[in-house]
Amino acid sequence: MFQNLQDKLDKALHTLKGKGQITEVNVAETVKEVRRALVDADVSYKVAKDFTNTVKEKALGENVITSLNPSQLMVKIVHDELAKLMGGEVTELKIDNNPSIILVAGLQGSGKTTFSGKLASFLKTKKNKKVLLVAGDVYRPAAINQLQVLGEQIGVDVYADLENKNPVEIAQSAIAQAKQNGNNVIIVDTAGRLAIDEQMMEEIRKVHQTINPTETLFVVDSMTGQDAVNTAKAFNDVLDYNGVVLTKLDGDTRGGAALTIRSVVDKPIKFISTGEKMEALDVFYPERMADRILG
Ligand code: GDP
Repeated sequence: MFQNLQDKLDKALHTLKGKGQITEVNVAETVKEVRRALVDADVSYKVAKDFTNTVKEKALGENVITSLNPSQLMVKIVHDELAKLMGGEVTELKIDNNPSIILVAGLQGSGKTTFSGKLASFLKTKKNKKVLLVAGDVYRPAAINQLQVLGEQIGVDVYADLENKNPVEIAQSAIAQAKQNGNNVIIVDTAGRLAIDEQMMEEIRKVHQTINPTETLFVVDSMTGQDAVNTAKAFNDVLDYNGVVLTKLDGDTRGGAALTIRSVVDKPIKFISTGEKMEALDVFYPERMADRILG
């Protein structure tokens, strides 16, 4: 995960090793390399520039911690700013309503169905919830089948209706069934397309408006970099979602989406997915991610 970014930041921060003190000149040099590392990681130039301006200001500021040598100090400042860029605090999922409804949205292939299964398993095993998964991808019978297989694998009920092509009705019937059966969390998987289109947006907007979810999560493939950020913006304009799920981090060597989404849509990353297996799901902790990026 983020191997390229790790290597480049490591190299950039290495330039201060052995230096006796922080100076305008050596900070400028290091910061330039950090900016280059971020832009190579597919962070937009503006975000990278703002980031490095803050780092520079802090390194040359009056409140610097004098017990650290220049290299350690720069690592600490970059670490703290990376964590801040990714949201700072961890943001938990709201699951206290009974039932809580979680709507899962995103493009086709982003990993929605896989994530829905993972989240159901996580809530069942770690939070002791009785979950109902709802197959709302009415265009792809294979997706409905995929959810049924996952449900069986993790021991979670799945609501599916192959005869009905209306996602709003499906969601409503599923919620009625969940209330009757005493499910306390309902996860609604939805249909996506390969690219943003008006019909898909209108459909998900209607589902969202009708079921009034406790949480709406936007799922996005982190490997798509700045496209991920643009898609995040488009879905946020329509759904005003509560959180982002970044998938396929196991294949993402650059990290641009993880670093920039928060600053662009101002919504927290809540989960990260790092593989195809049901266990490959983690709550997102900005601090821990910053630790990882800096090795
Ligand atoms: P959907 O169309 O959004 O429902 O996407 P799927 O859940 O069907 O996922 C699309 C493909 O991505 C499948 O082959 C999944 O196994 C794979 N996938 C999903 N999440 C991850 C992940 O975190 N890492 C990797 N490597 N593959 C993933």
